Amino acid sequence: ERGSAADLTIEKSNALKPKPDPSTLVFGKQFSDHMLTIYWSEKGGWEAPQIKPFQNLSIHPATSALHYSVQLFEGMKAFRGADNHIRLFRPMLNMERMYRSAERSSLPLFDKNELVQCIKKLIEVDQEWVPYSSDASLYIRPTFIGMEPSLGVSRSGHALLFVIVGPVGPYFATGTFNPVSLLADPRYVRACRGGVGAYKMGGNYGPTIAIQAEALKQGCQQVLWLYGEEEEITEVGTMNLFIYWTTENGERELITPPLDGIILPGVTRQSLLDLAREWGEFKVTERKVGMKEFLDALKGGRVREVFGAGTACVVCPVGSLLYKGQYGRTKRDWAPVIV
Ligand code: PMP
Repeated sequence: ERGSAADLTIEKSNALKPKPDPSTLVFGKQFSDHMLTIYWSEKGGWEAPQIKPFQNLSIHPATSALHYSVQLFEGMKAFRGADNHIRLFRPMLNMERMYRSAERSSLPLFDKNELVQCIKKLIEVDQEWVPYSSDASLYIRPTFIGMEPSLGVSRSGHALLFVIVGPVGPYFATGTFNPVSLLADPRYVRACRGGVGAYKMGGNYGPTIAIQAEALKQGCQQVLWLYGEEEEITEVGTMNLFIYWTTENGERELITPPLDGIILPGVTRQSLLDLAREWGEFKVTERKVGMKEFLDALKGGRVREVFGAGTACVVCPVGSLLYKGQYGRTKRDWAPVIV
């Protein structure tokens, strides 16, 4: 069958790059020696997947990905275990999300199992790029772009699915478990109901860069995305948000916003929910939380932990937040200062 892993061809690079020292890794700046490309066209369907030396793409200037953001991506990781085996973290969940993004982007559908097989092959070819370290991993970036060489806003008749990989260390410069500070400003919205926030499309990310810069300007490290009249808490930067608190009834509860279209269904989010439910030590709830409810809990000293969860940082504690000029600390052993 065309486009299947069995048809994969491999062209090895003869100019292998030196591997960076794992302690100096900067997220997303280093790439391995090879990449995977799979071309598709309306006429010919999927072509044979190719692993080839990491290289620039050649793109028609009218390419639909460049003009209309006909584009989507994924982010997942491979880890080298203490036993020296390389393992992907729940890759089928990423393939399923990628498939949903492809449907929503009018890009052609693909075989999720075949794509995982091709990605595994790429990692095998570049296996020396999976860091020999427990703080570092190989970040995998599947990308799918519309390659229609015309300016009509219409379904792409040509598309390219490619995968690049590179070693990464801790996502934040402050290190993995240092708490981050958040800017919560209801004037800025990441995604809206009826929109495409639940899909991993590049168009959801570019516009957030300016708001992230605004957060930095105000002395915060990340953006807490609020939504709507109730200022619902939705996500933090590119992570799903969790709150671990004591409810008004005195119960311990882990709470996270529901998958109602405005947040990205994170693989880490799902994994944490699965684990917490399996432990059964506290209530686990997916529901909306408004800023008022959260601030009341903060003032009442009921908030024990707040954290973001995502592939890049895995779990990132939140230490404080800036909301309408008021500064609040969320960490358990600090007194909340929001008034
Ligand atoms: N929200 C957004 C907006 C993201 O970009 C990501 C990263 N993919 C996440 C949440 C976390 O998702 P995951 O756990 O699958 O990395």
